Amino acid sequence: MATPDPTSRQATIGPDTRLECKICWTVYDPALGDEVWQIPPGTPFSELPPHWTCPNCSCEKQHFLVLDD
Ligand SMILES: [Zn+2]
Repeated sequence: MATPDPTSRQATIGPDTRLECKICWTVYDPALGDEVWQIPPGTPFSELPPHWTCPNCSCEKQHFLVLDD
């Protein structure tokens, strides 16, 4: 009986999902990785190290918002 509800679509983080820091608007793009943290290109946001923070303002991952294209 349960039908998928498109409005319940949570901000899921896929392998190529980009996220934006809500404090300084820095975008993490998995295709580019992160030179500051020496994250190789192709690294999904979900696979960033636990101690990873915004390379610009040092805020934590929880402050990043999913970017919808
Ligand atoms: Zn930031």
